[in-house]
Amino acid sequence: AAKILDGVAIAKDMKDEVKAEIEGFVAEGRRPPNLCVIQVGEDPASKAYVTNKIKACKYTGITSEKIVLPVETTEEHLLSLIKEKSDSDEVDGLLVQLPVPKHITERKVCNAVHPSKDVDGFNIINIGKFCSDQKSFVPATPAGVMEILRRSGIETFGKNAVVCGRSKNVGMPLAMLLHADGVYETKAGDATTTICHRYTPPEQLKLFTKTADILVVAVGIPGLITADMVKEGVAVIDIGINRVKDEKTGKMKLVGDVDFEGVSKVAGHITPVPGGVGPITVAMLMKNTLTAYKKEITFE
Ligand code: NAD
Repeated sequence: AAKILDGVAIAKDMKDEVKAEIEGFVAEGRRPPNLCVIQVGEDPASKAYVTNKIKACKYTGITSEKIVLPVETTEEHLLSLIKEKSDSDEVDGLLVQLPVPKHITERKVCNAVHPSKDVDGFNIINIGKFCSDQKSFVPATPAGVMEILRRSGIETFGKNAVVCGRSKNVGMPLAMLLHADGVYETKAGDATTTICHRYTPPEQLKLFTKTADILVVAVGIPGLITADMVKEGVAVIDIGINRVKDEKTGKMKLVGDVDFEGVSKVAGHITPVPGGVGPITVAMLMKNTLTAYKKEITFE
């Protein structure tokens, strides 16, 4: 049976490291790092994510400000608030919880966040640096997945990695981190990497997933990956978060994209949902906020 990769425990280690470093700065008389989170509207999933982020800030000693704007907020107003926070010396990290309402252009919002405070890594400057193998802010979910692999001793160098999903915030940056050359600043994984997506024919999908030493799934379809689709000993990272009805209790519950019960009999390592990638994503955001505070990445 697969070894279960405990996301809660890894996230705690990561947050404790951030916390210890911040305690050091505060002991020297510096102010702690600060994260500003802007939420537009009251989408329940967004609210839950923002709550978790603020909670992690409290745990690590990062001061935080949560700004909730009404759903009818204009794009102009949002952009001017982002500019104000981008210019503020009190703010180290700044993020707008996505998705934003339809009347607001997401790309404009992401680009309005100053690259040096862009802890989500969604500004085109950070995306461009990242894709050119330069140090940049990398979205927390893919960066967190690499952290799980590293901390669990799962080797990527020369291995076959398969990423299901090609979204700009998850699948694409993850494929970048897995395949790119590890000698450069992004410390990428040097894996031979295959990207599967919506138009990969279902019968082909299995041929690809079977080749994986590392299989990462970020699709949003419960039970997409079944035991017959994976190789013995594969490391499976399940990013999916799906709300489904529990057949036994009739209550709603969270599941990933992987048939955990079946696949864990064949895999070598597997992340559970919940308690896998989710908590690590939040911990990674704390790490990115500390990086912003330390001004470790230069934007000239
Ligand atoms: P998205 O909807 O933007 O992208 C889904 C991707 O899956 C697309 O690239 C699409 O081409 C691909 N896809 C669709 N059907 C497929 C199929 N049959 N086979 C292979 N690929 C297929 O979603 P996203 O933002 O990338 O998120 C993916 C999942 O991860 C969602 O369930 C989301 O809730 C979850 N998520 C989790 C975290 C976390 O912290 N754990 C963070 C972000 C997203």
